[in-house]
Amino acid sequence: MTSSTARPSGVLLWFREDLRLADNPALNAAVSSGEPVTALYVLDEETRGPRRLGGASRWWLAQSLRSLKADCDRVGLQLAIRVGKSRDVVTKAVEEAGVGRVAWNRRYAEAETKIDAELKDRLRKDGLEVESFNGRLLHEPWEVRSKSGGALKVFSPFWRAATARGEPRAPLPKPTKAKLKAGKALNGNSIDELGLEPTKPDWADGLRETWEPGEAGARKALTTFIDEGLKGYAENRDRPDLPATSRMSPHLRFGEVSPHQLWHAVEQARSEGSASARDVEKFRAELGWREFSYHLLHHFPELATKNLQERFDDFPWPTPDPAHRRAWRKGLTGYPIVDAGMRQLWTTGWIHNRVRMIVASFLIKDLLIDWRDGEDWFWDTLVDADPANNAASWQWIAGSGADAAPYFRVFNPSLQGAKFDPDGTYVRAFVPELEKLSARWIHAPWEASREALEEAGIELGKDYPKPIVDHRAARDRALAAFETLKAKG
Ligand code: FAD
Repeated sequence: MTSSTARPSGVLLWFREDLRLADNPALNAAVSSGEPVTALYVLDEETRGPRRLGGASRWWLAQSLRSLKADCDRVGLQLAIRVGKSRDVVTKAVEEAGVGRVAWNRRYAEAETKIDAELKDRLRKDGLEVESFNGRLLHEPWEVRSKSGGALKVFSPFWRAATARGEPRAPLPKPTKAKLKAGKALNGNSIDELGLEPTKPDWADGLRETWEPGEAGARKALTTFIDEGLKGYAENRDRPDLPATSRMSPHLRFGEVSPHQLWHAVEQARSEGSASARDVEKFRAELGWREFSYHLLHHFPELATKNLQERFDDFPWPTPDPAHRRAWRKGLTGYPIVDAGMRQLWTTGWIHNRVRMIVASFLIKDLLIDWRDGEDWFWDTLVDADPANNAASWQWIAGSGADAAPYFRVFNPSLQGAKFDPDGTYVRAFVPELEKLSARWIHAPWEASREALEEAGIELGKDYPKPIVDHRAARDRALAAFETLKAKG
């Protein structure tokens, strides 16, 4: 098509990491254009570059797509799901649907932005109008800048600069059937055909029992949090034994809810008197950490594989002990809070933030295993595995990242357990072997007397492991290794 020819009417809406209808800027623009809309999702595991989703994320994606498809049907939007290289699939879908316009919400990992930039170029050369929107972040990562215009590497100034940009926009409404003009329906694959869900073995029971993926599930989870968790959030968010955090992370990961919706929902709760300004501010600052991670990913695209601080490239990681790695992954380290966290991860695909910090510190510092090893395991097992948050958080714990916790901060797992899970409720939920052990010993069973262990029906080393490393000695070993970096300045 040349520019002098009339542009065909019709918009192709390409869903990606924005699997929702409400507050979806690209969808909103497509519907507002008054032109017929055709919707597409592409499962692209063929283009080299984008990181393949982990097992838990693949399970989530299948459920989320099912929910999105049903929601699209309800408003009269035809969603086709296709498999292949996104460049080819989108180009072909444009031709088949006969549209003159393509719209999508932006994504931020480098491999994906490259695909999008090339595709935009190609489609525009073919005479199409291509529009991209921000549906994922409160602020575009390049809009928040240091005084000299570059990246901000420390959270507080980043968040100050971000909030100084003003209030994030209000959420956009969900399009109605009456407003939406349906475009040409494309055929596509069924969700079962995508092969996203585990079959032999089907290990997803725990995920099914824990989560309701999809936009409606996200809405319910948000209502529950606002009714039950937001009040007292600032005080209780570090307690894994309490239902004190929102659990919105997988919903945010797949774009079933936007940060704008969360931003405004918590303020509404405050204005209605059901949360304090402190709770709202703290919760918004957590959304701020997510923004900060995306800012880092934008400026340091290799965040998941390369130390942000180059001096860490010389860190003397010993060859990992496979037995240690296995014990960590399976939750059999002998440190109850670590084991509870790793088993929570394995059964539910999620871990409480405080416990993520404890298990990550344990892997890196007590076991001296490279943070990338842990990042990779989380990538495979978390339902919220996120290219920005996961990588930035692992580097933060390792001390190799921006605004990192200093390397000499080594979490003591039993003290952390006693402080944040004081009655041992969290440990008991995931480590049933220790169910009968009293709160006094639950975070350090190796210190319990023989009688206390007998009373709880535990033989250490048989029913529950003895600690695989001595924390104090491991800490000294880690600090000595980290000292070598200090020497290099
Ligand atoms: P809430 O406390 O309710 O917070 C609301 C939202 O704010 C979260 O959903 C999340 O989007 C964001 N948020 C909260 N804390 C952080 C944080 N520290 N950094 C960035 N964003 C944050 N989060 C992920 O979404 N995906 C990951 O892959 C991921 N990997 C992590 C790995 C490690 C080693 C650590 C220490 C943290 C990781 N986090 C990750 C951050 C954090 O643990 C989770 O976002 C949080 O536990 C999700 O629970 P929630 O939704 O109940 O959080």
